[in-house]
Amino acid sequence: MPEVGAEGQARLKTARVLCIGAGGLGSPAALYLAAAGVGKLGLVDFDDVDLSNLQRQILHGTKDVGRLKLDSARDRLRDLNPNVAVVAHEVRFSADTAPDLVAQYDVVIDGCDNFPTRYLSNDVCVWAKKPNIYGSVFRFEGQSTVFAPHLGGPCYRCLFPEPPPPGTVPNCAEAGVLGVLPGIIGLIQAIEAIKLILGNGETLVGRLLHFDALKMKFREFNLRRDTQCPVCGDAPTITAPVDYESFCGTRTDVPAISVHELKRRLDDNEPVRLIDVREPFEAELARIDSAELIPLRQLGERMEELDRDAYTVVHCHTGLRSAQAVQFLRANGFRNVVNLAGGIDAWSDEIDPNVQKY
Ligand SMILES: [Zn+2]
Repeated sequence: MPEVGAEGQARLKTARVLCIGAGGLGSPAALYLAAAGVGKLGLVDFDDVDLSNLQRQILHGTKDVGRLKLDSARDRLRDLNPNVAVVAHEVRFSADTAPDLVAQYDVVIDGCDNFPTRYLSNDVCVWAKKPNIYGSVFRFEGQSTVFAPHLGGPCYRCLFPEPPPPGTVPNCAEAGVLGVLPGIIGLIQAIEAIKLILGNGETLVGRLLHFDALKMKFREFNLRRDTQCPVCGDAPTITAPVDYESFCGTRTDVPAISVHELKRRLDDNEPVRLIDVREPFEAELARIDSAELIPLRQLGERMEELDRDAYTVVHCHTGLRSAQAVQFLRANGFRNVVNLAGGIDAWSDEIDPNVQKY
């Protein structure tokens, strides 16, 4: 292609792209960036490959189930293009590791699925003056933009100064996502990365592209940098990483028991009240016998149905929403309430394989 040429190929070969997450968005993005011949492709991820995610996490196959996503991704990408230096960073993308990771790359692709990581990657990229290519998906809709205040656009915090209240925005595993959809959004992210590397075309800096798969429509919104933004504004008040879990209200270090401990208590007929805080459609997919359904969003108005002194175990899909429920209930005087670590997902893995995974 004349727009790329030998010089463009050379630029791609020296380019360094960091992909945060090797899941639904990171899979298509990393595959195409490797195929395009990006010189160095870094990956950060801490999860294992799960069968229920393969419809969208196409870097991985059935033979990889149970492996680290990082290992499976590295094998697949090296197989696709051995000339790409694939670097698997076996660390959590945290306030401690993020600045050093981002410093090693020219462009960052944010393919994460949680708010603490999203704010962290935003802040670190703003400080390091690296473009942060954003993508998100929800059911049948997705969106993408490039956050780059140093190139004239806004950052994530200009749009969302505060995270949503915990529990109000479900992630993909909880809300579901059309498996094909992250393919589209992840590829838009990959295209933006290539344009930024080549210095060619009009990037999504200052524009948000929204895609509705049901209507098959793309819409575009102009975005402006907020001069009052605490990170990229004219007088920033946040200049170093904060405690992102606390900021987003997603701390999960509440009192908890394992699925094995719950099984033992149930088998021994010890008094246990088991509360399921997932959505009704999730309970239709899979449930633990004896669990009572009180969706997290109804917990405030229905907590009087519970006994403040009774031993109560709260569970959800993976243990995040239930941790918020435990935090909330303890703050309201429920002294004997604990979280089920790993949620129904762990129950299915370790106790009862007949409970369907989703
Ligand atoms: Zn900003």
